[in-house]
Amino acid sequence: MSETFDVIVVGAGPAGVSAAIYCQQKGLNTLLLDSKPKKEIGDKVCGEAISKKTVHNVSEKLNVEPPTGGEINTNVEQLVLRTSLPVDHISLPAIGYMVDRYIYGQRLLANATKAGVKIQDNTRVISALVESNTVKGVKIRNKQGQNENLYCSIVIDCSGILAVVRTNLPKDFETLLNKELTKADYASCYREIIELEEDHNLEGKIVLQYEGDIPKPGYIWFFADGKRKLNCGTGFIKTGKNKERSVKAVYFNAIEKYYPKETYRTLDGRGGTVPIRPPLWNAVAPGLIVAGDAAFHADPLTAEGHGPALLAGYYAAKTSLNAIKNNNVSTESLWKYNKLIMEDFGNEHARYRVLTIALNRLGVKNLEFLLKRKVVKKSDLTSELVTGKESILSLLGRTIRCFPRLHLLLIVKKAMSLSKKIDELCRNYPNSPQTFMEWKKKIEKIYRKLE
Ligand SMILES: Cc1cc2nc3c(=O)[nH]c(=O)nc-3n(C[C@H](O)[C@H](O)[C@H](O)COP(=O)(O)OP(=O)(O)OC[C@H]3O[C@@H](n4cnc5c(N)ncnc54)[C@H](O)[C@@H]3O)c2cc1C
Repeated sequence: MSETFDVIVVGAGPAGVSAAIYCQQKGLNTLLLDSKPKKEIGDKVCGEAISKKTVHNVSEKLNVEPPTGGEINTNVEQLVLRTSLPVDHISLPAIGYMVDRYIYGQRLLANATKAGVKIQDNTRVISALVESNTVKGVKIRNKQGQNENLYCSIVIDCSGILAVVRTNLPKDFETLLNKELTKADYASCYREIIELEEDHNLEGKIVLQYEGDIPKPGYIWFFADGKRKLNCGTGFIKTGKNKERSVKAVYFNAIEKYYPKETYRTLDGRGGTVPIRPPLWNAVAPGLIVAGDAAFHADPLTAEGHGPALLAGYYAAKTSLNAIKNNNVSTESLWKYNKLIMEDFGNEHARYRVLTIALNRLGVKNLEFLLKRKVVKKSDLTSELVTGKESILSLLGRTIRCFPRLHLLLIVKKAMSLSKKIDELCRNYPNSPQTFMEWKKKIEKIYRKLE
């Protein structure tokens, strides 16, 4: 009979390696599976901008080195919102790095090997093994092309946006867990790394450039990667009238306005997919935890998902350790994971989803108007958006600046007030699954009010 593991982690992206390293370090017999060959793990289409604070925080928890040397391409200092006007409308501090995802990903994999994690590459997970209403392992297609069952106490699904374990569970298994993936949950992207003939003057900046002819969320990004290199791309939800539109064609149309083809050479150009939803409200089921893109843990506004995936993997491992110690892998026992996510980045991502919906509703021309007239300011994207507190004078000033498009102010105010409600609900995330459905109804109702 084959070996039984404490934990099987599916996917060796940032969420998976983080989970596997911590589990193994804490003495759990851990198996990490990935469908790719080892030498390709970490190679992912990405904007490659990561937050220093998050990555240092997780590195400390995992006792591994943060990105270093050749893993870092350059530093990031600001997140900038632009429209077709040649100004930085809003500029927020965003201290981080442009990393080389492949080199950093390979190093994290080496950290997992060093920690003693068993790594099985070229292994495609097909689905979960469910027995007695509990996930007991995974069904795989192994290197030799044969199907095999692998058993464990807890499976951590870190398989990225397709969430192979979560989306292939029996329908009647754990009704509190969303087992679906719909087209509205993610944006299809096209990303290039380009080298310009001249300096781009965006050093230290990651720019979200809103453009009227890019379908929602409506921007092309330009992330400075040194003086002449840019990581740029766009993406949108391929539903409705945009179902048949080519992301690549939209990208080339948008970039041409800023960097005509003859002014740069393309070093890499590929497609990818990024979640744009708020986090899964519940990401556990008996014997199962879902982390990273598989649980929609990326920031819905900026697509920053690398740091959140590392954090989610760590929290999933911590929760697994506790559950295995207590010999209890029930939903109740794993519930703490949801709270950890919500208290860390979940609340913020839930609010940023409100902001993205509001931006989509406004449209780029109106956004430009609001930014130009300073009806929407930097503070709206940070503290005021949450507290919803605004003095009469400040409101009056906003109203005057918004004239004659006062209806836009109503959208902004509504988004602020709903964001505040989301914040309150997230702060009061249920302590146990018993009251979860009631809580979920409330939060989903708030999003419906905006859409
Ligand atoms: C275009 C684009 C730009 C982005 N820009 C940024 C950015 O600038 N900053 C940022 O922080 N984030 C960015 N992201 C998001 C970030 O890349 C993800 O959020 C992050 O990689 C999620 O990590 P993960 O571990 O959850 O999943 P992944 O990194 O996707 O890893 C999943 C792993 O699971 C494996 N796998 C999949 N299916 C199976 C299976 N059936 N069996 C076994 N293994 C399987 C895969 O091979 C892969 O190794 C971007 C994403 C895209 C697409």
